[in-house]
Amino acid sequence: MNNLAEVSYDFAAAFHQLEHSAKVYLRAEGGRWVVDSSIADGHPLATALDRVSCNLGDRCRECGTPDGERQADAMAVAPMPTARELLHMLADLHGGVVVYGEGAR
Ligand SMILES: [Zn+2]
Repeated sequence: MNNLAEVSYDFAAAFHQLEHSAKVYLRAEGGRWVVDSSIADGHPLATALDRVSCNLGDRCRECGTPDGERQADAMAVAPMPTARELLHMLADLHGGVVVYGEGAR
């Protein structure tokens, strides 16, 4: 199914999920993309979107409730992960572990 017009989304089966996006800066090196070391500064990653959003958008019934608003407000000020924290999140996602060697930052 490559035609986007054929893609349907089952909103009835979907659930409230707050989302955000972080920037991981990449730079070209030797004809491929590599992570720019500037993100390993220990600071939270920059956000890539203007605000926290819900995957259901305006169709979400929970976002309009007081609890949903509290959740969104809390996540709006929650710091983004640092690069190191993201590394651990990715390792967890892939069932791996992070092992630091000499020179680790
Ligand atoms: Zn929602």
